[in-house]
Amino acid sequence: MKVCVVTLFEGLVLAVSEHGVLGRAVERGLVSVDTVDPRAFATDVHRTVDDRPYGGGPGMVMRVEPLRTAIAQARRRVGGQRPKTIYLGAAGQPLTHEVAVRLAREPALVLVSGRYEGVDQRLLDVEVDEELSIGDYVLSGGELAAMVLIDAVARLLPGALGNAASAGSDSFVDGLLDWPHYTRPEAVDLGDGEVAVPEVLLGGNHAAIERWRRKQALGRTWARRPELLQGLTLSDEDRQLLSEYQAEQA
Ligand code: SAM
Repeated sequence: MKVCVVTLFEGLVLAVSEHGVLGRAVERGLVSVDTVDPRAFATDVHRTVDDRPYGGGPGMVMRVEPLRTAIAQARRRVGGQRPKTIYLGAAGQPLTHEVAVRLAREPALVLVSGRYEGVDQRLLDVEVDEELSIGDYVLSGGELAAMVLIDAVARLLPGALGNAASAGSDSFVDGLLDWPHYTRPEAVDLGDGEVAVPEVLLGGNHAAIERWRRKQALGRTWARRPELLQGLTLSDEDRQLLSEYQAEQA
């Protein structure tokens, strides 16, 4: 997958491709991350990319030009006539696991990061296929949102994760939150006496471990994000596990 981000802060965005899972995915040629700075296409001496908002009010708005030229350049960089073009914006649809799965099927993405009060709506109406938000809060710019999107999508690409199975149990993949994880030592004193790892995880009984993990995933989803359960059809066994979890909490 080829990704090109239109941004005033290229260094910030490129850092996402230098570390961890994404860094390895780039090394393996599974994904490439490129940037285009709209300022490079500004024609005035000050390289202006913004202007005052019509109707008055505070802040500045990113102008249609040179952003439009920058988007065209980004499209050429990733190859192809009209790669999916996404504007990262607080007013967009939520970026969810399902959206990330859908985007992971695209051969190329152009991501547009806004700054200031945002981008002239006429550009978004014509050049952008969808607007995505990473949460109900306002960032100073779309770069961090673009990085979040790239990370969430790239880790879904076949071969991106060292152990492909690890993505299968991640939160949201099957609609549930992940179960809790533990590693050595078996007991640890955090200042209030020793806390042990749940015993079932030490016994080597794989069926019992699977059952415990499923119960924890169901229970934590019920306790923390009950709305996620509304969209799921639980099996009889799931319902049994959930009532066991609820009974244990009571
Ligand atoms: N006036 C805009 C609003 O209230 O929605 C906020 C503009 S914000 C200061 C500047 C840029 O940050 C936006 O153009 C957008 O690209 C990005 N941004 C802010 N919050 C975001 C979010 N939750 N998700 C994605 N991008 C966001």
